[in-house]
Amino acid sequence: MRSFDELPAPPPFRGFDGLSPIEASAFTGFAGNRIDRRSENRAADAVATALADATARIYLFRADRVLTKSGDPLFTAAEAEALGIRREGAVLLGWAGGGPRLAGVIGDDAVVPETITETDLRSLAVAGGTSAEHLGALAQARSLTQWHARHRFCANCATETAMANGGYRRDCPSCGAEHFPRVDPVVIMLAIDNREGGDNCLLGRQPRFLPGMYSCLAGFVEPGETIEDAVRRETFEEAGIRIGRVAYHASQPWPFPSSLMIGCHAEALTRDIIPDETELEDARWFSRAEARAILAGTHPDGVRAPPPMAIAHHLIRAWAEG
Ligand SMILES: [Zn+2]
Repeated sequence: MRSFDELPAPPPFRGFDGLSPIEASAFTGFAGNRIDRRSENRAADAVATALADATARIYLFRADRVLTKSGDPLFTAAEAEALGIRREGAVLLGWAGGGPRLAGVIGDDAVVPETITETDLRSLAVAGGTSAEHLGALAQARSLTQWHARHRFCANCATETAMANGGYRRDCPSCGAEHFPRVDPVVIMLAIDNREGGDNCLLGRQPRFLPGMYSCLAGFVEPGETIEDAVRRETFEEAGIRIGRVAYHASQPWPFPSSLMIGCHAEALTRDIIPDETELEDARWFSRAEARAILAGTHPDGVRAPPPMAIAHHLIRAWAEG
């Protein structure tokens, strides 16, 4: 068995000078959250205190749909009350705009006036229906409210649990277990083959995609796996391509329900694609000129990229324009 002593020296830290002051993650949808979470301020009565504050503003959901009034996703406590917010399901996101920010849900049977619009968050993000700051906060709000909706019972002893810590924990009154909101890491990668003078990237198509759309490959990180190993395993499983070096590019909160997309560029060591037909209906190599045409919407075969809110768009763009 190899020990750490037998490995060559790890790569040294190169300093910050080569890094752009603008993070690539900032260009992805749901990355604009400016809420000050103040996680040290999550006392047992934190939600009730925040709801009683006249400056409180609340993001509201019915199931997984966002409520807005004339495009504005923020409601006062009185407005939320009138719409039938379930007070016991409200969570404290943090502070912004001079007051507390919360998230809450209304019942499936609540009667909502016609001035209120209900939209799923993905459509709102693609359509640019609200600001980047609100989209980021709505991602936090949706992941948390969906976690509470799906994790009412203790995973250890099946007793009904109670919200604690402003909504960032559920406690079991029977066995004492504490449950925390999960974030599921997903690797999403653009494999690049630039061996022997080539200059191509690998994109795949899932059957559920819109016509013509091709995107990066992606998959959940498994327990006991590094990000780099997950990129290599998923690319081989989905496309039969062997990967060497892996370079992190950007991350994106993905609140469906609670993933963190970890975007990487991946060095292809082989070229023959063997698509996993249970996941992909097609996978192809595209030249850098084709990738630029795909982003511009001028590819001769009508191939399209995901929209700019998606991290896949930026992985492709960073390579195509690099
Ligand atoms: Zn329990």
